[in-house]
Amino acid sequence: MVRKIRRSVCPYDCPDTCGLLVEVIDGRAVKVSGDPEHPFTRGTLCVKMNRYQDTVHSPHRLTHPLLRTVAKGSGEFRPISWEEAIDRIIERWQKIMDQYSSEAILPYSYAGTMGLIQRNAGHPFFYRLGASRLDRTICSPAKEAGWKVVMGETLAPHPDEVSESDLVILWGINAVATNIHFLHGVKKARQKEATIWYIDTYQTITSSVVDQTYIVRPGSDGALALGLMHLLIRNDLIDHDFLTTHVQGFEELKEKILPDFPPEKVSSLTGLPRKTLESMARVYGTAQNPFIRIGSGLSRYGNGAMTIRTIVCLPALVGAY
Ligand code: SF4
Repeated sequence: MVRKIRRSVCPYDCPDTCGLLVEVIDGRAVKVSGDPEHPFTRGTLCVKMNRYQDTVHSPHRLTHPLLRTVAKGSGEFRPISWEEAIDRIIERWQKIMDQYSSEAILPYSYAGTMGLIQRNAGHPFFYRLGASRLDRTICSPAKEAGWKVVMGETLAPHPDEVSESDLVILWGINAVATNIHFLHGVKKARQKEATIWYIDTYQTITSSVVDQTYIVRPGSDGALALGLMHLLIRNDLIDHDFLTTHVQGFEELKEKILPDFPPEKVSSLTGLPRKTLESMARVYGTAQNPFIRIGSGLSRYGNGAMTIRTIVCLPALVGAY
């Protein structure tokens, strides 16, 4: 029996990008665990990756091409060879290109595993083919646009900095399911008596690791940020020095927010009671080092980029970048 431990990386579409230790016996993966030397993984994996060896060796895994044999939806296929699959694709695509041009073919994909090679390997092929180009906006570009319009090319803070915060806001992120390693720093902050909030449009398991969960109406996160700004300004919980020194456009913002986003209106937009909004603004405005971790779901509405832009402006009022 030959037993080896191999280093690998998690292949899932996930920002934690964990390092793996794979136990291999006689060429077969038998156990997958988190790499204790990987600084963000710290030896633990999420439930999606624990027992990944069972996924890799599952008899249900698709390991060869299948050809649909009857009408779509019937679920009936027969296995074919890779040669036959490639011949069929070439024949079909050639017909499309002859009849319409190469631009009638649109490669539709996004990050996949988030690995640079797997994510981008198809691009040169499709460029060469002359296929249509997809503005790959399926996942996070609206979020990036909202961030960049405020912060330019500035990177977000290092996730571990959260441990120095006294108020952590998980905004639209079910971190227990999708960003478990970030919670390591959140836990440390909580041990130092930080308050942890979770803002989302529905209850998730993340509620079980926070102090307060605020459920808002879908698409109303930007309104919540504007309502908090209104209360911060009205109750003078803003950092005047920071605003004067580092912020452009505050006066214009104030002129708009004070008449347009009073708590009554924000309450009806978000579904949060007025008293809750007031208490949120008070806690946020008096925190020393608030840290907002924004998820992606809230950027996937028609107002997504503006929602992110608005939330990213919030720390400017209290000087908390
Ligand atoms: S948290 Fe889970 S899915 Fe994400 S990189 Fe780590 S093991 Fe993979």
